Amino acid sequence: MSTTGLDLKALRYLTYGLYILTAHDRGKRNGCIVNTVVQVASKPCLVSVSVSKKNLTHDFIKKTGFFAAQVLTKDVPLKLIGIFGFRSGRDYDKFDKVRFRDGVTGCPVVLEHTLASIEVEVEKAIDCSSHTVFIGEVVRAENLKKGEPLTYAYYHQVKGGKTGKNAPGYKASIAKDNSETEKGDKKMKKYVCSVCGYVYDPDKGDPDSGVKPGTPFEKLPDGWVCPVCGAAKAEFEPQD
Ligand code: FE
Repeated sequence: MSTTGLDLKALRYLTYGLYILTAHDRGKRNGCIVNTVVQVASKPCLVSVSVSKKNLTHDFIKKTGFFAAQVLTKDVPLKLIGIFGFRSGRDYDKFDKVRFRDGVTGCPVVLEHTLASIEVEVEKAIDCSSHTVFIGEVVRAENLKKGEPLTYAYYHQVKGGKTGKNAPGYKASIAKDNSETEKGDKKMKKYVCSVCGYVYDPDKGDPDSGVKPGTPFEKLPDGWVCPVCGAAKAEFEPQD
């Protein structure tokens, strides 16, 4: 088929939620951030998820045949997304840092900033090149708290969130923001995290970490770390 007229920017108009996807394997727990949880049938109640083959969570799901998806709240701090979204569970235990309990499938259920949890027993795994789509029956669904769910669009536009390299929409969603921030007659530069792509905007500061709006990058305390991936201040570069 011809690829003429293939404007990938069209894919940016697809809408998604944002979820912590968890799984387990022989006593180990892991999780990652996905935007690809979809209900695909009602009787029986079937749910699918698309996961990068590079993710450890993918390997756990493939082995055990279970996954759990937790719906994130709109007010989730970027730090929690950073724990699950930009580091590999091969390097460290993500569940050291969050409150959780094990669900009926053995998959961990994160109890911080999550509205609901859906546990699934996998029936089919469809190979989709870089990703696998797992489809299965919901064996437990529960509401954890009341509130509004986080959407992918809100995460990008309002919270300044970035797309992980293993997300299916990674290339389509990269957008460079070259602007500098004006403060009086001085320009305060934005700085980019070289690990995850988070942009420190002095106008916005980093309120989740106690940094007030209007704080230039140079005035950030030495112990300040990237709110998304935990990288040190030295990992940041001025934005061109
Ligand atoms: Fe970062």
